[in-house]
Amino acid sequence: MTMRGVKWHSGGMRVLLTCDECCAELPFDVQKKAGAFNGRAAFTVSKAFGRFARSKGWVQFDGTKHLCPRCTRRRHGADPKPKPIEEKTMVQKTEAKQALRQPSQEQRGDIIEMLVLTYDRKAKRYKGADTDKTVAEAVGTWCLPGWVTEIRERDFGPTSGNEEIEAIRAEIAAVQADCAERAAVLGKRLDAVCAAIGPRAARI
Ligand SMILES: [Zn+2]
Repeated sequence: MTMRGVKWHSGGMRVLLTCDECCAELPFDVQKKAGAFNGRAAFTVSKAFGRFARSKGWVQFDGTKHLCPRCTRRRHGADPKPKPIEEKTMVQKTEAKQALRQPSQEQRGDIIEMLVLTYDRKAKRYKGADTDKTVAEAVGTWCLPGWVTEIRERDFGPTSGNEEIEAIRAEIAAVQADCAERAAVLGKRLDAVCAAIGPRAARI
């Protein structure tokens, strides 16, 4: 039990009950001279203090510990601790804030100028290795890639791909075709060798 007596200014006793969870204190003043405390008086005081604490919403549990009203409510789930703000929520908030930001007239003009230079309207993709992001970076001054996406989709073309992506895709296709061809040649060689050895080679 975390109950302790402290000397009170007018010579009486102040008993402090401490919450075992949050260390909140409940003072109870005993109008008696410290010297007059005998077993019987202490018993009476502790009973009175118990009644006083209960009337203030304090709860005793496990026979020894005390909880203040707030911690009691929290223990019953009625007054839960505020949840720490999750990082995800922060990110969402930041994104929401950025979504509200709009490009200035000057930025809009710069984005369009950059798109004229970098976007191939006929092929419906960027020239070279440009993307919405590189255009936004070129415009600078806090330009968001989302603004470029919006303007590009409305006034230029639907895809954000570029020449580089197409070139890599073509190279992958060429490598795959080449590999298939070489594998076919090796397969034929293997068949020829196996045929020369006879039926035993089929197990290899
Ligand atoms: Zn408490």
